[in-house]
Amino acid sequence: MQTSTEGLIIRTRDIGENDTVVTILTKDYGLISAFANGSKRLKSRAAGAAVSPMTYSRLTLYRGRDSYIIDDAKAVEVFFGLRDDIEKLSLAQYFCELAGEFAPENTDAGEFLRLLLNALYMLSEGKRSASFLKPVCELRMLAYAGYMPDLSGCLKCANESPENPVFSTTHAGFFCQSCSPVSGINATLGVINAMRHICTADDRSLFSFKMPDSSLKILSEISERFLLSQVERRFKTLEFYKTVKDV
Ligand SMILES: [Zn+2]
Repeated sequence: MQTSTEGLIIRTRDIGENDTVVTILTKDYGLISAFANGSKRLKSRAAGAAVSPMTYSRLTLYRGRDSYIIDDAKAVEVFFGLRDDIEKLSLAQYFCELAGEFAPENTDAGEFLRLLLNALYMLSEGKRSASFLKPVCELRMLAYAGYMPDLSGCLKCANESPENPVFSTTHAGFFCQSCSPVSGINATLGVINAMRHICTADDRSLFSFKMPDSSLKILSEISERFLLSQVERRFKTLEFYKTVKDV
């Protein structure tokens, strides 16, 4: 059965000498894997580029019993601004690896795709900094994937606005300093409010907030440590991003 869809190329993997398997985040079918070598049309340079990582493409697919085969591909958005900046490129690769971890398979993934496309666009065009986009993307993806922290109030006394909140990755929420049973990450109310915004804002206003660098640093530490504590795995792209960041 032939079908058309649009999707962001998340990664490619060569199998043997002749086969390439492409992981694609599509709106309608979520994450799918597709073979990219079957068709003569794909041998053209333009179509080959359209199945490269971090390219948003219109795809014609054959749907087999167990897998998809890409028959044709046309790039819609290639995010040129990512290609010659190693910090931006490596963060974009990390975002794609996160999507590969958290986005669903065989079901609608429109919200994941919109988040990723918006983040890549802003990163590519320099609309927002890498250090701003990273925690926003991490937390938002966690929220979509069902790992939203409980940010309604102190987990012990329910105070919604403590002066010196302490975020606990193990409790997936925050405490007032006096209620905190464990040592966590010292935050501020501004950081907690930013996290509330990231988890619940609508798509259009998600990225439209600002915070001082000192708060952004705390937000980044919380989002990254919380993410890693939830999935208990390593992300090679994150480790690489850290080696090239601000070099
Ligand atoms: Zn409390």
